[in-house]
Amino acid sequence: MSEFNKLNLNNDLLKAIKAKGYTSPTPIQAEAVPPLLKGKDLLGIAQTGTGKTAAFAWPIINKLAKDKTKTKPKNCRALILTPTRELASQICENFRTYSKGMGIFSGVIFGGVGKQGQITMMKKGCDVLIATPGRLVDLMSEGFITFDQLEIFVLDEADRMLDMGFIHDIKKVIALLPKKRQTMLFSATMPSSISGLAKSLLDNPTRVEVTPENTTVEKIDQTVLMVEKKNKMHLLKETLSDATIKSALVFSRTKHGADRIVRELLKSEISAVAIHGNKAQGARERALKDFKAGKCKVLVATDIAARGIDIDRVTHVINFNLPEDAESYVHRIGRTARAGRDGVSVSFCEATEVKLLKNVEKFIKYKIPVNTDHDFHVVHTKEEIAAQEKLKKEAKAKHLADRQKVRTKKRNSQNARSGSIRTKKAPSKNTKKKVTKKKRGSRR
Ligand code: AMP
Repeated sequence: MSEFNKLNLNNDLLKAIKAKGYTSPTPIQAEAVPPLLKGKDLLGIAQTGTGKTAAFAWPIINKLAKDKTKTKPKNCRALILTPTRELASQICENFRTYSKGMGIFSGVIFGGVGKQGQITMMKKGCDVLIATPGRLVDLMSEGFITFDQLEIFVLDEADRMLDMGFIHDIKKVIALLPKKRQTMLFSATMPSSISGLAKSLLDNPTRVEVTPENTTVEKIDQTVLMVEKKNKMHLLKETLSDATIKSALVFSRTKHGADRIVRELLKSEISAVAIHGNKAQGARERALKDFKAGKCKVLVATDIAARGIDIDRVTHVINFNLPEDAESYVHRIGRTARAGRDGVSVSFCEATEVKLLKNVEKFIKYKIPVNTDHDFHVVHTKEEIAAQEKLKKEAKAKHLADRQKVRTKKRNSQNARSGSIRTKKAPSKNTKKKVTKKKRGSRR
C-alpha cells in the first residue's frame, strides 16, 4: 500500500482501495491523482482498462469527503458525462465502491429506461451524477436538473462521444455549467476535434498520456485462423471447446449475426448471451451480469455495445468477423488485457476479410501469426480472394437492388392510397407534352 499512501488520499479511500486488492497505482493514477488533488484541470489520453475511472474518481471522492457541503435538490457537485449506459452504470458502481461509508451519494442517468426514478433521484439531489448526454439534456430541459452547485466536470471517452454524434448535447450541457469549476477530459485518441474541444474546455490543464494503444496490444497472445465463411461457426465451436477458455468475448459485425451465433452456441450447449443495440436495457444488463458472474461462458457483442464495458474475467477475445476499421481491433482485444493482465485473442479470417486483416496489421505494426492447427484451415489464394470478393460484391448489389424494389413497391402503394389527392395535382410537364401530342395526333 505504500505507493498508494504517497497519493495523499484520505484513509477511508485507502481502505476501499486496499479492499479491492490493488497493490500499486496504475500509471495514469500515479500521474493524474496528484495534480487533480491540487484542483488542476486534466487532459488524460488513456483508454479503458488503464485504471482511468479510479484516476478521476479518487480525487473527486477525496474532495467531496473533505468538504461535506450538502447537495441541494436538482443539483450535483460532480458530473461525469460518458457515452454509453453500460459505462455510466459501471462508473457509478466504481464511485459507490470507493466511497462506501463516506456519506457520498452517486447516481446514474441514462436513456432506454423510464425517467421517473431518475427524476425522483434528482428531486433530492445527487453528490456525484454519472450520465449519458441524451437523457441528461432531456431532464435538464424539463427543469429537473440544474448545475448551481457543480464543482467538478468530467468528460469521459470524448473521442467516442464525438463518434456517436453527441457533440450538440455535450455543448448544451457545457453551456449551463458554472465557469468556475475543475474539468477533466479523457479520450483514447486525440484527433483535432478533441484537441479543439479540450482547448475550449480546459484551463491550463496537466496533460497525462498513458499506455499507447500498441503497447497494450503487444501483451496479448494474438493469432489469426484462416477459414472459409461456411465453416466459421464450426470453427467457433471447436475453438470454444478448449478447456482453458473460461470466458470469451466474441465479436460479431452485426446485431443479427450476434443473435445467430448465440442461437447456434446454445444448440451445442455452450452457454452464451448477446449484447447489442437492439436489446432492451434490462436484457443487456442481465446478459452482462450473467457473464460477469460466470453463469455464462460466452458473451457475443457488437463493437458499439462492448466498447468501454469493464469485464474483468475475459480470458479470450474471439473476432468472429474482423472489424471494418483497424482501430476497433485494438479496442476489442484490449478487453482481454485489463489493467496489466495478459490475454489471448483469436481472429477468424475468411477470404473477403484478408484486406481487413492487412489493415489491422498495418495499424498495430505487427504481423499476427497464423495458426494452422485446426480442422478448418484453408489457404486464401489470390484467385480465391478475388472470387469471394466478386461474390460478396454481387450479393451486396443484389441486396441493394432488393431493398430498392421494396422501397419502390412501398412508395407505389402509398401513392395509390393517396391517389385522390394526386388527381387534383396539375399535370406534370411530361404529361402535358403527352396530352399535346395526343391532341395533335387526333387533329391530324
Ligand atoms: P478502467 O480503465 O477504469 O476501465 O479500469 C479497468 C480495470 O482496472 C478495472 O477492472 C479496475 O478494477 C482495475 N483497476 C483500477 N485500478 C487498479 C489498480 N491500481 N490496480 C489493479 N487494477 C486496477
